Amino acid sequence: MINEIQAKSIIRKHKKVDSWFLSRYGMNLYRGCTHNCAYCDGRAEGYYVNGEFGKDIEVKINAIDILKKELNPARKKIPFEKGFAMVGGGVCDGYQPIEKEYQLTRKVLELIKEHHFPVHLLTKSTLVSRDMDLLIEINKRSKAMVSFSFSSCNDKISKIFEPGVPSPTERLETIRKFKDNGINCGMFLMPVIPYITDGEEILEESIQKAKEAGVDFIIFGGMTLKEGRQTEHFYRVLDSYNPNLKCDYKQLYPPTKWGNAKEEYYLAVSDKFYPLAMKHKMPIRIPLQFFKNHINENDLVTVLLEHIDYLLKIKGEKSPFSYAAWSVSQLKTPVSEIKTTLTSLKGVGITTEKIILEILNKGTSAYYDKLMNEYIR
Ligand code: SF4
Repeated sequence: MINEIQAKSIIRKHKKVDSWFLSRYGMNLYRGCTHNCAYCDGRAEGYYVNGEFGKDIEVKINAIDILKKELNPARKKIPFEKGFAMVGGGVCDGYQPIEKEYQLTRKVLELIKEHHFPVHLLTKSTLVSRDMDLLIEINKRSKAMVSFSFSSCNDKISKIFEPGVPSPTERLETIRKFKDNGINCGMFLMPVIPYITDGEEILEESIQKAKEAGVDFIIFGGMTLKEGRQTEHFYRVLDSYNPNLKCDYKQLYPPTKWGNAKEEYYLAVSDKFYPLAMKHKMPIRIPLQFFKNHINENDLVTVLLEHIDYLLKIKGEKSPFSYAAWSVSQLKTPVSEIKTTLTSLKGVGITTEKIILEILNKGTSAYYDKLMNEYIR
């Protein structure tokens, strides 16, 4: 059922830049998603999506009028900074089938183009290629990236767990088209489905197919299973695929509000994925050259410190950098204005101070480059 609703606001400004997606601003134009992925956590009660998830959709019918007002500099309701807008993710896919009719995502891209925002799209749908013309224009003016999410590149498994979306083969084909038009593309290999798409062979297949399609980076992540609607629905689909697995899942996912699997599982599956990414020279964070000229200096320092933190932690090393990144992200003034007192920031010691100064002077840090280069062709 389609329910047209009046939204009060559209743009969400994040408390800090998101270093996984590079987004500063996020927006959902619909609530609910007929892609109906079995593992979708948008189904969980905590997101308050009305109706039956997978069938009922709320359409924010006044989204474009609201967005025009929010983007009007005279109103200054949201003090805009240089940064990526992210369309998609969360409780809907901006290119789910209903977008053909309402075209809200396309109209948002027109506004993004007009206001010279960089944009990062995340979708599972090939419908995004309808907007190739606009994305080429945005890419020329201010940068566009298009990412696709996958739980694997196996078409048969996808048909069961992602019943409403084009197959992985079709998504990879769409990536090729964007790459042919000079647009950087990412693969969000998340979530991998425990015991089904988390084996070494299937992970390597995804990396190889991504490489062949020209994917520029892969962001990898595990699955959550929040108690309530999300778990109940996932188990129904799992039973139709292989009922013997439910016992293992019950061991793996103790019922919790956050739905995390046992920590050892995430570590074990990461230990399989990251060496494969290294073997195939596939970047596991969004590469610096795609964003360094499109975000402000505090966000650049924050993202690079968080990337260093991530790259160290997956090697099993300790890292002090996430605390420092948070401190920089909360500054109200440009970090270059406090160059001489950086160590007064919480979490910033002499080593981090050196890295921050290097980023401010050169736009990167040798330490960051060294860690990233392990994954770069
Ligand atoms: S495409 Fe994304 S938002 Fe839509 S059902 Fe699948 S996981 Fe959920």
